[in-house]
Amino acid sequence: MSTPSRFGPHPAPGPVAYRTAGDVARVVADVDDGSTPLARSVEQDILVREGLRLRGPLPRPDHTRVMVVANQKGGVGKTTTTVNVAASLAQGGLRVLVVDLDPQGNASTALAIEHHRGIPSTYDAMVDSAPLVDIVTPSPEIDGLFVVPATIDLAGAEIELVSMVARESRLRKALLAHPQIRPDRTGGDGDEDRFDYVLIDCPPSLGLLTLNALVAGDEMLIPIQAEYYALEGLGQLLETVEMVKAHLNPGLEVSTIMLTMYDARTRLSAGVAEEVRGHFGDQVLRTAIPRSVRISEAPSYGQTVITYDPGSPGALSYLEASREMAMKVTAGGPR
Ligand code: ADP
Ligand code: MG
Repeated sequence: MSTPSRFGPHPAPGPVAYRTAGDVARVVADVDDGSTPLARSVEQDILVREGLRLRGPLPRPDHTRVMVVANQKGGVGKTTTTVNVAASLAQGGLRVLVVDLDPQGNASTALAIEHHRGIPSTYDAMVDSAPLVDIVTPSPEIDGLFVVPATIDLAGAEIELVSMVARESRLRKALLAHPQIRPDRTGGDGDEDRFDYVLIDCPPSLGLLTLNALVAGDEMLIPIQAEYYALEGLGQLLETVEMVKAHLNPGLEVSTIMLTMYDARTRLSAGVAEEVRGHFGDQVLRTAIPRSVRISEAPSYGQTVITYDPGSPGALSYLEASREMAMKVTAGGPR
């Protein structure tokens, strides 16, 4: 790519070399066009075998990694990524907390957590300073996975928060008050049951809720849909991140970019991937998440694709992408 990215100068992109589920699928697609039943079944076999190799325990980070899943565009795969990465990490033996910060409560639904009005939720933690320990609910499906559900009350929080003291840091305060969330402390008593990851699923806007997440987190996971206009609006998100770093949370780092709904057979997806990699370099995970019907079906069964269809390419890709995340040493480290 010789033209400068719309985000400004960037280092020359290296060759894009996805090496996992998506990659295997592409190799198979090279042999055949990937559309015959035989090719599909071969692909599936390879993916399942590849998947078996992946299922060792994952390393525990030495502090709680608080990751903000954000992109103010709707429908790019934030919620899908949040719940499937959370499930993958938990299946790898880690303790994971999902904080649902979207009034729609889609992450709560996908994880089969009740979230009708009256259920203790993110709203209570942020607006009424209710202790998070009283709100955290275990997933009925997956050991080690916990959820702070969102109810529709959260829709009003954007406005209610405006007049509150320290309105941008309500979520951060709530998280830090939880004894098992330790972004800065490691070792010692209580380290065994410390959360290894907190994943915050943001709403599709850059309002006060997302701002609270950016102030509360130490890393960002940005899902980018491998489609036309994928990068539209990303500049605005990155400007917001810079503003937060300058004034509210200097340690915030865009550590992880994940390509979602990737179609290995189109030039468009490859082009988007190349442009994203050109700008973000190694922050982009080598595993792209393919477009997969199984991924989109899973929530209607109150499941993630990791339990709904563990051998499917979508599940294997999320498992591999999550492994990549877990293996990555964070530059910032504990704060
Ligand atoms: P967001 O939270 O960013 O609004 P979602 O995660 O809710 O986005 O995804 C938007 C829609 O796209 C949902 O219907 C979801 O099931 C579907 N979807 C997400 N990822 C995939 C994928 N890899 N393959 C197929 N459908 C997907
Ligand atoms: Mg969502």
